[in-house]
Amino acid sequence: MSKLPHIPFHVMPVIGTEIATLADAFQRGKLCGDGYYSQQCETWFRQHYQFPLALLTTSCTDALEMSALLANIKEGDEIIAPSYTFVSTVNAFALRGATIRFADSLPHHPNIDLDSAESLITSRTRALVVVHYAGMACDMAKAKALCEKYGLYLIEDAAQGLDAYYIDESLTKHPLGSIGDYGALSFHETKNVMAGEGGLIVVNRKEDRDRAEIIRQKGTNRSLFLKGQVDKYGWVDIGSSFLPSELNAAVLWAQLQAIRETQSHRLALWNQYFDGLASLEADGKLQRPNCPDFAQHNAHIFYLIAPSKQKRIEWTQSLEARGISTTGHYPSLHSSPYYKNRHDGRTLQHSDRYADCLLRLPLYWSLDSASVTRIIQALHDIV
Ligand SMILES: *Cc1c(COP(=O)(O)O)cnc(C)c1O
Repeated sequence: MSKLPHIPFHVMPVIGTEIATLADAFQRGKLCGDGYYSQQCETWFRQHYQFPLALLTTSCTDALEMSALLANIKEGDEIIAPSYTFVSTVNAFALRGATIRFADSLPHHPNIDLDSAESLITSRTRALVVVHYAGMACDMAKAKALCEKYGLYLIEDAAQGLDAYYIDESLTKHPLGSIGDYGALSFHETKNVMAGEGGLIVVNRKEDRDRAEIIRQKGTNRSLFLKGQVDKYGWVDIGSSFLPSELNAAVLWAQLQAIRETQSHRLALWNQYFDGLASLEADGKLQRPNCPDFAQHNAHIFYLIAPSKQKRIEWTQSLEARGISTTGHYPSLHSSPYYKNRHDGRTLQHSDRYADCLLRLPLYWSLDSASVTRIIQALHDIV
């Protein structure tokens, strides 16, 4: 059947300029954290997205761990997060000894159902962690109102949210990560812009800015010392080594220079899928992504929703037989081996449905429009 070339599910985005910036980083003679490329990247983020403070980290996982430290999460605290997400969203808080209360997804979207989240709030709840799935914003007005009403920290897992926005009532666009108390972004090689491994913490709470730098610098006030704000540095708080090396930052810098090209290419492919699969949705065969009006997404993921788990598996196999690799996404965390005995027993039907029925299609920088045409045609043949 398939004499055509294989289409992998994912290929990491390589711009071609990374080797030159890496060589330059060596030339500069300093590869540890917070050097030339780290500062270039951090300045770029502040300028392009008006982030008040943006600090590179070794991963989004680390940015979330920093958020948990900044929010002083401790044993006995509860945090609320969606079950349909990656483990890092909640691991950061479990590491501090918190109990995770898992909320369901929305019936029409994998993002957290904030109404059901409200019913989970107790006197021990300290934070709400939202995940912008596929770079599509959660309802942040609602999330903010909830956190203000109950005095909770609002933390955005914006791992997938670089260059995506939440649009408020007055039509102002807010970059994902800039809305809660803290935002965490990822530059893992599976994301739109990569550093191999890498992340960013956006610190929106003014009063936490110095402490964020301290926590990232092993609990020392080294950053303040280097800025001349204190005359010697030492151990002033708990912290860890959350700084990436200049090698990662140099790769990220090369990638950021090409972000407009990579984003417009991804958006064009995403729209091609969306239009090409419209008639299958109209015929009731599958569902396409349902991007809320208040979200401007970044074409991080193109997914479709099959009517059953059986169908999703059949489609994966039929596409594979045609040389096209596709994959599902998260298993629900509330029924994971680590958490199932800790979960309070509620059924989270929508999270489970996305775990069973959501199928992701290839979408990356080196994918061409002809391949997307072939994938759309294959889906028309199969479903
Ligand atoms: C990728 C991802 C993470 C983890 O990012 P790392 O940079 O690999 O730590 C966390 N949450 C979500 C939703 C992700 O997609």
